[in-house]
Order: sequence, then structure tokens, then C-alpha cells
Amino acid sequence: MYRSHTCGELRLQDKGKKIQLAGWVQTVRKYGSITFVDLRDRYGITQLLFGEAVNAQLDQQPIGREFVLQVTGTVIERSNKNLQLPTGEIEIEVGSFTILNRSAVPPFTIQDETDGGDDLRMKYRFLDLRRAPVRKNLELRYAVNRAARNYLHQQSFLDIETPFLIKSTPEGARDFVVPSRMNPGQFYALPQSPQTFKQLLMVSGYDRYYQIVKCFRDEDLRADRQPEFTQIDCEMAFVEQEDILSMFEGMIKSIFKEVKGIDYTEKVERMTWEQAMWTYGNDKPDIRFGMPLLNLKKPDSVYPDRNDNRSLIDGAQFNVFDQAETVLAICLPNGADYTRKQIDELTEWVKRPQIGMKGLVYIRYNADGSCKSSVDKFYSEERQLAIAKAAGANPGDLILIVAGAEERTRKAISELRLELGERAGLRKPDEYKLLWVLDFPLFEYDEEGNRWVARHHPFTSPKPSQIETMISNDPAIKDAANYLNHPYASIKANAYDMVLNGNEIGGGSIRIHQRELQEKMFAALGMDKEEQQHKFGFLLGAFEYGAPPHGGIAFGFDRLCALLGGSESIRDFIAFPKNNAGRDVMLDAPSTIDDIQLKELQIRTDLK
Ligand code: ASP
Repeated sequence: MYRSHTCGELRLQDKGKKIQLAGWVQTVRKYGSITFVDLRDRYGITQLLFGEAVNAQLDQQPIGREFVLQVTGTVIERSNKNLQLPTGEIEIEVGSFTILNRSAVPPFTIQDETDGGDDLRMKYRFLDLRRAPVRKNLELRYAVNRAARNYLHQQSFLDIETPFLIKSTPEGARDFVVPSRMNPGQFYALPQSPQTFKQLLMVSGYDRYYQIVKCFRDEDLRADRQPEFTQIDCEMAFVEQEDILSMFEGMIKSIFKEVKGIDYTEKVERMTWEQAMWTYGNDKPDIRFGMPLLNLKKPDSVYPDRNDNRSLIDGAQFNVFDQAETVLAICLPNGADYTRKQIDELTEWVKRPQIGMKGLVYIRYNADGSCKSSVDKFYSEERQLAIAKAAGANPGDLILIVAGAEERTRKAISELRLELGERAGLRKPDEYKLLWVLDFPLFEYDEEGNRWVARHHPFTSPKPSQIETMISNDPAIKDAANYLNHPYASIKANAYDMVLNGNEIGGGSIRIHQRELQEKMFAALGMDKEEQQHKFGFLLGAFEYGAPPHGGIAFGFDRLCALLGGSESIRDFIAFPKNNAGRDVMLDAPSTIDDIQLKELQIRTDLK
């Protein structure tokens, strides 16, 4: 037996017990003829006291950081208690010890606060994983995993595995491919998600499926993405959108409860995609705080009952606003005392390339009710006041306005909103706000190819009331400049995203389950019959054998864990993550393979 207890277990009531511990040496502190050692394992840290007799043996058998040590000893009360530590009231008076293994000097200190930089910690991830903060993240991950499974099990879901070596099912990214030795010149693809399999399982009658599963996407890695990541992937048959929403609200609430002890009793808010885009500037708004946008170009959004069709900014000969496609304003509560310097700094902030605005206009709505702005020359005080009021401002607030092309401006102001919310402390880390975003557009227009692409994926069904529009219209876009007038542009999908504090944590849809509609969808995306057959013949075929109505959702498991763990980075919640260039720096992967392997696979790597 190596140990009778763990290093996190012993307390004052164990005083006098003879015990055995095994673990890693975190620190060694010599004081003349005695030595203190902090012994660490997964469960905690216990202080060891090497009194004079055993201390002498340490000269022959010196121990250092990260040595693996086994000790036999007696639990005694500590004179100098450390109440920060659960075991801090006791220590072990060591009777004998064995060095089970030695350790090289670790490249960084293995303590909560480490001196190791990111790269070093990734290279020695097995050491980083010994640190308590990283371990706690993995424990939280397991707790989320358990909570999800418990809930889904109670709801009669079956966990069914699906293959990793499959045929490409594009979901908007590139596939990772695997060459087949037995079928030279042919390749498997790794699944971007089990999407088509879970749909086939519905056809097979497994009406509640889930899997906590790896997905693989060969994307250019934007910040905090991983080429392989994990989803809680779910699908249900005989359901409508409402059934899915309530089932998975239930799951998230139950995860909140089990993992964080939070009773999320409020109703989960809902918003259409259109509302989200115009009220917050993006499709995953953080609704922990308000600060909605005001669209100054759309007169009816300012004065719904006005019918002279003039907006608050028209006719002032201010070119920047007059010529812009969109002008959006936001009100910063209590911002009127922002100094000129602070406003200049915000202006620089929106001018950064990531945000891409040309400038920032402000209106100060002073506490005394007067207004002052950077465009005094063009807008009378009366007009400024009207704009401020329309933006929902009170005296003492600051109005900020950006102008430009629609998409960019919307994006910019939504970033500005988040930044201001952050600075004002409105994005509270311990507050959780869930939101469903509904009614996404079914299609997106791809300018380069002058064609439609699926906003979610090609298996998503249109709103039932718009199936007819889809079937009876020709998808071809004849007038690219006015693609928005094409009937397809206004088709909404039976698709939904769950948003938590400004992050998309899950997304799904009610699926198409009829062959004809699925064919129409593929055709709308530019696939001819032959390509449809080649890529998705199996699914189209299955739809001919009694496919039930079905729908589902997948949650980004890594992201959910990171959010519940209060971290920005999903990497902290993955045992062996890749870096931003998609590399595993510990394994040094990807790497070259032997010529023999290449030959067997009939692959040449010298093609340009
Ligand atoms: N397979 C989808 C995805 O990975 C989720 C779903 O539609 O269920 O985004």
C-alpha cells in the first residue's frame, strides 16, 4: 500500500493517527536540523515535518521539487497553523520516507501563481496540469459533463457514439482529412459535427440522442478557437422548436444548479435575430446590461408616430451623416462628465483597425439640461436634445454616434457598447443571463460567388410558413446588387442560438425531413443532382424511409465550461489544448511522417 490517505484529507481530529502519504514535493524548507516539505497530490497539500532523526537522512538522500515521495508518520497539531489550507491545522511528523522517483528541476514553479509563460506551460503541459487552478478547471469540466449527462439521462436520452472516420459533411469550415491506406487515393474526413448521423438516428427511431463528442474543423484559428473541440450534441424526433427550447433551457438550468449552485428561475429571454441585430448590433448580445442602439437613419425607429419621413439628422448638411449608409447612437449613462481626453481616447479606440470607424461624434447631455457636442456647427442644441432624448438619455449622460457602412458600423457600435459596459462595470462576472436568439435568416448571400449559403447548415428547415416561398421561387440571383429583394433573402429559419453573457453557447434547428425540400435546399446552395447524390445520397435516401420530424442543438462544451469557470479562454479547460497556430507544442504536432508511410498511402508532399 502506498498511502492510507490523500494529501488533502487529514484534519485536527486525525491527530495521533499513524498514516502514509504519497505525492509530489512542492517545496522544501530547511531550518537547521529540521525540514518542512509541502507534499502535494490531486487532493491538496499536507505539510511534512522531518525532525532531527529523519532530517539527517536527507543529507544522504536529498529531495527536491517534484520528487515523488512516500512517507510514514504521525498526524500532529501544528503550532503555527495555516488556516488558508484545509489541512493547515496539522502536519505529519515523518517516521520514515522513500523516494519513489526523482525529478529534474521543473521549468517553472508548480504553484497557483506560476512564473511560467504560456508557451513553456504548454510545452510541459503535464506539469502545468499539476497546478491547482488548472486542476480545478478540469474538475469543473467534469462537473458540467456529469450534470449534462444526468439531466439528459433523466429525460430518456441515449448516448450513442458516431464514427470519426466519415465522409465530408461540410458545416462551413474545411474538413480535416485522413488518407485511407486500403483505398489508395481516397480519404476519410473527420466530422465537423455528427450532424447527419444524429439525423439518421432519428430516422432509425432513437428519438432522443446525445453525445459529448469531439468535432474537428480546419479553420483559420481566430482567437480562442481549437481545431478539435467538444460539443454536447443532441437531437430529438417529433418535436417543434418550442419543445427543443424548453428541453435545453432545462439542461442549462440544471447545469447551473449542479455546478454553480445557482437557481436560474427567471424566464430565459427571447429575441429575434432582427431585434438582436438592431438593438445590440450583433446576434449574441450581452443582456446583462441595457444600452440599446438608436438607429438615426431610420426615422420610424426614432419617432414611430411621425410621418414626415425625416430623421433627426436629416438636412443639416453634415456630410458624414448624410452620406453614411447607417448612423447609430448609444447612450452612456452618467457619461457627461467624460473629459475631452477620455472622449479622444474612445475616438482612437473606435478608429483602431479591428473596429474600423473613421470617427466618433458625441453629444454631452449636461446635468443642467444643456447639450454640447462635437458637431455643434451642424446641429442646434434643440436637435441635439432631441437626439439625446430619442437615445433614452437623461441629463448627465453621454451620447456617442458612429456612421458608415451598415455591417461595419453595427459591428463597431456593438463592440463599443461592450467596451463601455465593461468599463462601467456592468458586465458582472458572477451574473449569468441566458437568451434565445430566434428566427435567423435561412440563407446568407455570398458576394464572391454570387450565391446563397446556408446560415446555419443545409439541413435546417425554413419557417413552415415560408416553405412555399422556397419551393416556388427560383434561387438564382439575377440582380446581385439587389439581392436583398430576392424572395430567398427574407426566408427565416427554424433555427435558434442560446446566448450566455454575450457568448453563443449553443445553436441548432428544426431540420428538413422531406427529400424534396432537402433537394430544393441543396439546389439553392448551388449543388446539382449529381453532387447532391455524391455528397448526401445516404441522407436523401434515408428520408424516403419514414423520416420523422426532428430537430436538435449542439452546445459548445469547452466554451460553456470556460464561462462557468469565469475565464475568457477555452484552452484553460482542455487538458491538452493546441496553441493559436493549431499546434500541439508538447507533442510537436503536426509533424512530418516517414517516407515509408507516405508511400503506403501513395501521397507525395512535394506538390506545389
Ligand atoms: N451540428 C450543428 C453545429 O455543429 C448543431 C446543430 O444544428 O445541432 O453547429
